[in-house]
Amino acid sequence: MRRILFLFVLCIFLMSSGGARAADAMNAVAERYVHLVLALGQHDPDYVDAFYGPPEWKTQAEKEKKSLDAIGAEAAELSANVAKIPDAATSDDEMLKLRREYLQKQISALAARVRMLKGEKLKFDDESRALYDAVAPTYPDSHFDEIIKQLEERIPGDGPLWQRYENWRKPFVIPKEKLDVVFQLAIKECRARTLAHVALPPNESFTVEYVTNKPWGGYNWYKGNFHSVIQVNTDLPIFIDRAVDLAAHEGYPAHHVYNSLLEKNLVRDRGWVEFSVYALFSPQSLVAEGTANFGRDVAFPTKTERMKFEKEVLFPAAGIDASRADEYYAVQDLMKQLDYATNKAARRLINGEIDESAAVQWLQKYAVMEPARAKQRVKFIQRYRSYVINYNLGEDMVRRYIEKRSGTDPEKRWSEFGKLLSSPRLPSGLKH
Ligand SMILES: [Zn+2]
Repeated sequence: MRRILFLFVLCIFLMSSGGARAADAMNAVAERYVHLVLALGQHDPDYVDAFYGPPEWKTQAEKEKKSLDAIGAEAAELSANVAKIPDAATSDDEMLKLRREYLQKQISALAARVRMLKGEKLKFDDESRALYDAVAPTYPDSHFDEIIKQLEERIPGDGPLWQRYENWRKPFVIPKEKLDVVFQLAIKECRARTLAHVALPPNESFTVEYVTNKPWGGYNWYKGNFHSVIQVNTDLPIFIDRAVDLAAHEGYPAHHVYNSLLEKNLVRDRGWVEFSVYALFSPQSLVAEGTANFGRDVAFPTKTERMKFEKEVLFPAAGIDASRADEYYAVQDLMKQLDYATNKAARRLINGEIDESAAVQWLQKYAVMEPARAKQRVKFIQRYRSYVINYNLGEDMVRRYIEKRSGTDPEKRWSEFGKLLSSPRLPSGLKH
């Protein structure tokens, strides 16, 4: 009996020390991964979206300025190291499995980005698979024609649809001088709704800045210590629907909350250093943008709730006629169905099937964008390429993943959403 007990204790000891060794090996890979991301940031100014680990690591990367060849070789070595770590699949802890998968995919995406910077040309779908672990569906033009037909009926008249749409929606622009008041109200509401369901670090905070001359509409810069700087681009008129969209997407319950929860739960509580860096061109971005877009529907689980807030608070604050809110949002619902038109324009532009001006023309027609907006979008595509799929495909994948677990129960939706925001889950992990 005693002998059996001894063997049992020995087994437990060996298993736990094996687990500890695996954890040490994983931590070592994680640390080298952070150094590699910082090293690649020296070649690609957009690559390191956030870093709040030891500042001397960044200084070290600046001093060393590793070559792309050296970074690529190290990524291959690191990949092999992860493969050698005893498989966490035997462990019951799903978080450990997700961590291993996360490191594997993030390192492989880093290696792909190195190859791209060295001049390798990837087709749009191959690039999105390599960088974001996903491929967006391709829709025929007829798919967009169907939606455009419905828009044509809602906004009749002469001239191209984008022109009629621009004229029709002029009364829904937030006047520049009221922009901050309207945004702050939207942020306050989204924050209150989030805090009612998700435990946030008590000192979390962010500031909003208004900027110009950017290819994007809004950006969240996560600074660490639960603080974000949210920038809103005012190059083009900002319409009333963007207030809740931006507040939810950049702030609550999305980017700012996602980054804060990763820092709290993974970096601080578990010591998983790989989450103190955020590589923009990596699978993590699909989850980040997907949760950011879907976050709006988590904060406002029904259209009735959203419309009530819009009509009672935001429209009056912006000085916009609230009696037209339903009409405005009915058109916005149709416009949202054209989201994948951007992917198609990007796919054709990146694959060299059309040039810059044809892409602008195509977006005017199929995404119903005025020329200035279409040009801004093409600039975004040229700079961020297949990143565009992270918004719409990301949203669809996150929605399917969450709703499969929660149904339409808003409470369960919040808890599943909170869990996703606190985990290292990547796009292929959303398919289960
Ligand atoms: Zn975003």
